[in-house]
Amino acid sequence: MAFRTSCNNRYLLPVIVAVATLTVLSVIQTRGGTPLLLAERLFSGGGWFQVVLLAGYGFYITGKIEQPELSALWRRRIWILFSLIFFSQLLLGLTVDSLFLMTGKLHVPVPALLVAGPVYRGEAGFMTILFLSTIIITGPSWCSFLCYFGAFDATAAAFRGRPTAIKHLWYKKGSVLFITIVIAIALRIAGVSPVVATLTAISAGVAGVAIMLIWSRRRGMMVHCLTWCPAGTVVNILRHVNPFSLTISKSCDGCMRCSAVCHYDALGSSDIERGKPGLTCTLCGDCVAVCGERSIGYKLFSLSPEKSRKVFLAIVLTVHTLFLGLARI
Ligand code: SF4
Ligand code: SF4
Repeated sequence: MAFRTSCNNRYLLPVIVAVATLTVLSVIQTRGGTPLLLAERLFSGGGWFQVVLLAGYGFYITGKIEQPELSALWRRRIWILFSLIFFSQLLLGLTVDSLFLMTGKLHVPVPALLVAGPVYRGEAGFMTILFLSTIIITGPSWCSFLCYFGAFDATAAAFRGRPTAIKHLWYKKGSVLFITIVIAIALRIAGVSPVVATLTAISAGVAGVAIMLIWSRRRGMMVHCLTWCPAGTVVNILRHVNPFSLTISKSCDGCMRCSAVCHYDALGSSDIERGKPGLTCTLCGDCVAVCGERSIGYKLFSLSPEKSRKVFLAIVLTVHTLFLGLARI
């Protein structure tokens, strides 16, 4: 049976995202202590202006992404915008005023540290808890809507049309994850200073950018995220703690059009034959619109694919909008 799409109320989902954003940010705005919203730090009452602005933003982007044919374009747009704002605030915090930083306690914004950091320090910090909670709430969409680094890899991969599959993908992913953990343990046991550990993390980040510029751009595949980033592998492994998934119905005629838009190497012929994407699927949703047979759809318990997609978008776009307003170093 092919998955059908329909449009009952085009404002319902945008309103849900706007109200959820408004509610969460209002709670944050009314709490005491150092303001978390940037506009409140700039002028008194500015936080409320930012709350309303972000709720409006959530409404607007949900209206766009809800339309399957606009989803891939707008997902890439909002993801790169989030990353640019995130890194602009870091730059302004370092060069202009520390109010652009969250706490003033700097750490290197390299996703490998989500894995290596806790191992090196011997404790889970705020970022680890945030990372794991996000996987529980939104599944693997950390790597398609929320990570401040991955948007650059997505942009690099989009330079080329049809993606080329990566050979021995899980062997490469597993090796990088293993080596990252071993290096973090070695640095801890050797008692190296945080400066040396930081320089190691920066080197990993620079190498990652080089991988994006050379291989992701050349292959049309997110080579950095798929092979180099150990956090991405953790996301792939832990994704099952969240109930959302993607399935391919029997109406699939094997045309492989979906495979041509998947930059996460999750729709090889064997995945399509099995009726579900590979473990590297991040629920980005890019494949949903291109399937002429409407054979690919989201799955949440026994809900229809259309309802499952709506619930997924309500959650992930609310979290994305909150991240836009709050995520800073
Ligand atoms: S693979 Fe790593 S860099 Fe890419 S989106 Fe996921 S956490 Fe971010
Ligand atoms: S299978 Fe579809 S939803 Fe999953 S990563 Fe690929 S394009 Fe995105």
